[in-house]
Amino acid sequence: GRLVVAVDGPSGSGKSSVSKQVARSLGAVYLDTGAMYRAAAWHCVNEGVDLDDADAVTEAVRGMELTQSTDPDSEHIAVGGHDVTEAIRTPEVTAVVSRVAGVIPVREILQGRQRAEIERAGRIVAEGRDVTTVVAPDAEARVLLTASEQVRMARRSGQLAAAASGVDAETLKAQVAGRDRTDSAHSSFERPADGVTLVDSSELDFDQTVAAVLAAVQL
Ligand code: C5P
Repeated sequence: GRLVVAVDGPSGSGKSSVSKQVARSLGAVYLDTGAMYRAAAWHCVNEGVDLDDADAVTEAVRGMELTQSTDPDSEHIAVGGHDVTEAIRTPEVTAVVSRVAGVIPVREILQGRQRAEIERAGRIVAEGRDVTTVVAPDAEARVLLTASEQVRMARRSGQLAAAASGVDAETLKAQVAGRDRTDSAHSSFERPADGVTLVDSSELDFDQTVAAVLAAVQL
């Protein structure tokens, strides 16, 4: 039957790796909604769209031909047939994604595509910032994954060190805090909405966090 698991959380909460593992455990597919906003931002930059022009940004995103794999073991995303799996993770895209995601019609376009994908899949773990509240408030299980700011910064710097980005700790902290602040208007993690299970991973290791999310699915 239908099983939709919605997971929201801020950057560094571990939501992507945890959600993928939850999808594997459930034999479900996986939808990374953040990757869609990143692809939209990449597309606007690539097309030379003025990011201050909300109408131009909206039209660019409306016309964007997006293909995204939903296999938790192989994340691939393409715009107009051009693979952007790596390109959407660059600091350049990360620096502007919140601006594109702040354009309300852009959100409506991508939320519509996300709902269509969720309906098509039926058995899916969908992850982002507004999935528990806006995209799939009717999901069978809804989880808000958090972690203390200290833990989130440590995880993000670990990820960036692995990517050899050369960003120092203070810059990183400012960047993550800045993106979370810009995103906060569209994020469901100030406090969990009614019916949303809060999982704080600050004191949990990866397997324990996955188990906590799976426990929420079985409630
Ligand atoms: O999850 P990730 O950090 O890759 O998301 C990138 C950006 O996409 C976020 O900073 C936010 O601006 C936007 N986003 C959003 N709503 C979502 C998922 C992501 O606005 N559901």
